[in-house]
Amino acid sequence: MRTTAEAVIVGAGIMGCAIAHALAERGLTDVVVLERDLIGRGATADAAGGIRQQFSTATNVRLARHSVGVWETFEERFGTDIGLRQQGYLFLLTDPAEEATFRANLAVQQGLGVPARWLTPAEIAEVQPFVELGDVVGGTFCPEDGWCDPSAATMGYAQAARRLGVTIQEETAVTGIRVAGGRVVGVESAAGAIAAPLVIVCAGPHTRQVGAMAGVALPVDPFRRMSFITEPFPALPSTLPMTIEFATGLYFHPEGAGFLFGMGNRAEPSSFDKTVDDHWMLTNVEALVARAPQFEEASVRRGWAGFYEVTPDDNPLLGWVGEPAGLAVAAGFSGHGFMQGPAIGACLAELILDGATTTVDITPFRPSRFAEGALAPEHNVI
Ligand SMILES: Cc1cc2nc3c(=O)[nH]c(=O)nc-3n(C[C@H](O)[C@H](O)[C@H](O)COP(=O)(O)OP(=O)(O)OC[C@H]3O[C@@H](n4cnc5c(N)ncnc54)[C@H](O)[C@@H]3O)c2cc1C
Repeated sequence: MRTTAEAVIVGAGIMGCAIAHALAERGLTDVVVLERDLIGRGATADAAGGIRQQFSTATNVRLARHSVGVWETFEERFGTDIGLRQQGYLFLLTDPAEEATFRANLAVQQGLGVPARWLTPAEIAEVQPFVELGDVVGGTFCPEDGWCDPSAATMGYAQAARRLGVTIQEETAVTGIRVAGGRVVGVESAAGAIAAPLVIVCAGPHTRQVGAMAGVALPVDPFRRMSFITEPFPALPSTLPMTIEFATGLYFHPEGAGFLFGMGNRAEPSSFDKTVDDHWMLTNVEALVARAPQFEEASVRRGWAGFYEVTPDDNPLLGWVGEPAGLAVAAGFSGHGFMQGPAIGACLAELILDGATTTVDITPFRPSRFAEGALAPEHNVI
């Protein structure tokens, strides 16, 4: 166990690994990542792997756009095949009031170079011929969106970080954050203490608990989300896009020889319950069959539950917490974090090493915004 480091990162999910790699690539290699479980086994392991640029806030569009560029070249840069499939994201809108909002969001996205566009129901039928369109007023589609394998991506970052000299220590929970004179001076863990002037909290759904170790309120709460995968289902083509019924949050996309689908239970309170609820699975299946009737013939192979790491405005906490000095956070991605890993790594490394970011201005997501009453709500939450 190391006893000193220039920086300690709490958590080896996509964020901890991407930030560790970005720091090391920029020359800060004396970094220790402490992970209480195994690399990439937190929320990242449960993600559907979706990668989209269709957000409402310009900051999220920019973070997504930068990240897509990295995902597209990941294999060349990291030597890891992440199984990227850019088959598009299709949002189906059933509430007429959403049209104006989505058209305004499209203008933001298109202004930043995202090739997303509005589709009439007839045009939707051309890219997704298998959905019921009777109640659909229109939709938006971005052909560059898609999905990939979150575990492979996280391991790609972790291995690259290790090659550059970063230590990633698994099965080592951080149990305390040491503060002296208003500054972070290190962490305590099950395997001993590490003295460090810089600590970055990347603890996903457990970020509130880790922040409390330093006496800092980090408003991130866990919300259970379930995903399900069908048995091989050749009745529908594997070339279909990610399809999302925005009003309910129902989504499905081809996965292997079958389909992955899910829908968040927005009425369920925050908890760390990770069991799969069979009643909710049936609700998901009914919604899926109602939208895409061919699924009546499909069988569910398995389901799993994980946690969205949700903040009050559905956007992350990024950057210095303020007090104590030397404590930074990159967490609370509210269910859309995996895809942003590359940009977050670059931005946090810039903030730490240069004092400000150049890749994307992340100040709208500063942790102090809640105390300031300057929330930055994201509308396109699934
Ligand atoms: C069902 C589901 C579907 C999703 N689908 C998508 C999607 O399609 N696209 C997308 O972009 N995002 C998706 N997400 C969201 C995505 O999974 C998260 O936003 C992202 O993985 C967060 O990464 P992270 O590194 O911040 O957190 P995590 O992956 O949770 O990593 C945090 C790590 O910190 C560790 N840790 C916690 N406490 C401590 C401690 N005290 N000491 C040491 N280690 C600690 C944990 O063990 C964990 O490994 C989905 C999430 C779920 C649950």
